[in-house]
Amino acid sequence: MRIILFGPPGVGKGTQAKILSNELKIAHIATGDILRDAVAHKTELGLKAKTFMDKGELVPDDVVIGIIRDRLREKDAANGFILDGFPRTLPQAEALESVFRKIGMKVDKVISMEVDEEVLINRLTSRRVCGNCGSIFNLMTDKIINLTCPKCGGELFQRDDDKRETIEKRFKVYQNQTKPVKDYYLQKDLLVEVDGIGDINVVTGRLKNVLSTERHARAL
Ligand code: AMP
Repeated sequence: MRIILFGPPGVGKGTQAKILSNELKIAHIATGDILRDAVAHKTELGLKAKTFMDKGELVPDDVVIGIIRDRLREKDAANGFILDGFPRTLPQAEALESVFRKIGMKVDKVISMEVDEEVLINRLTSRRVCGNCGSIFNLMTDKIINLTCPKCGGELFQRDDDKRETIEKRFKVYQNQTKPVKDYYLQKDLLVEVDGIGDINVVTGRLKNVLSTERHARAL
């Protein structure tokens, strides 16, 4: 299956994409993860991307389109994939369609995860990451003492792009540049909305329902 998981920042796309990619045995392709990895390794791409990411802005289209074009050619993507955080602009969606056309592929389903913006802003500004093991926690829902990682004892920190001013900027960017992508897929009759509020496994259940309906429809 080739799935696009769509939705605003902090809606839980990354968490759900990981679960679905494990269960469905398809590649999880997250442009945010690829970019963060490049930043951590201080590659040329990382140095270029960091300035945009820290400000809550989108990395230029040509850069992310190049990343996706290369990533889709990797072997594991042949069995299917779940795209998380891409496409985020109309030019990205159009470029993806043209890449697919060239290699004779198409998207099976675009799932838009829906959660109220205020809930998301609170969720994101409470997110903390362990500097040692990389685990992610939330100050509102996890028991965190003295900003210490409950798993490894490392120090928890707030990602620059999770700070309030940056989050508000990311939502503006989402409204202006990414929301039109939703209409693009709605018009193509590929998009389904799924409620993103609730326990992780409840949301996974909703996503799996949509995908099994899709698989069933394709089998008919
Ligand atoms: P994410 O982890 O998906 O929220 O991405 C973190 C940051 O990486 C975003 O705020 C952007 O700066 C950048 N980024 C990730 N995916 C894209 C994309 N498809 N287009 C442009 N920038 C992106």
